[in-house]
Amino acid sequence: MNIALIAHDKKKELMIQFCIAYKGVLQKHVLCGTGTTAKLVSEATGLEVRQFLSGAQGGDQQIGARIAHNEIDMMLFFRDPLTSMPQEPAVSSLLRLCDMHNIPIATNIATAEVLVLGLERGDMDWRDIVNPK
Ligand code: PGA
Repeated sequence: MNIALIAHDKKKELMIQFCIAYKGVLQKHVLCGTGTTAKLVSEATGLEVRQFLSGAQGGDQQIGARIAHNEIDMMLFFRDPLTSMPQEPAVSSLLRLCDMHNIPIATNIATAEVLVLGLERGDMDWRDIVNPK
């Protein structure tokens, strides 16, 4: 499965801790992320994470383009609900694209845990059938 990782600045440490905790599951999949998130996760975990541009420079939209082509199977997007961002419209657009393609998306760590545990259990295998690579 192709998994996209995005974390706003105040949630990056949480994303790193999450990826360390679930490295065993994540290492079986193809990871990508916005610039800084991808770099930090990769450095902290040793996981290979394809690095797009940083969110503020359009990395969210690079991921959005892949979602639009149904090339992303799951998104973990740890949003900071307390800070307004210049790229806020891109955030709404990502959520909309995920809804268009039934792509599971977690915007906080509680949902991310459920998704990653489900991924390990095979709950997302239907995506390979609906969308063969
Ligand atoms: P970043 O982008 O991982 O490059 O910081 C995330 C964002 O803030 O959208």
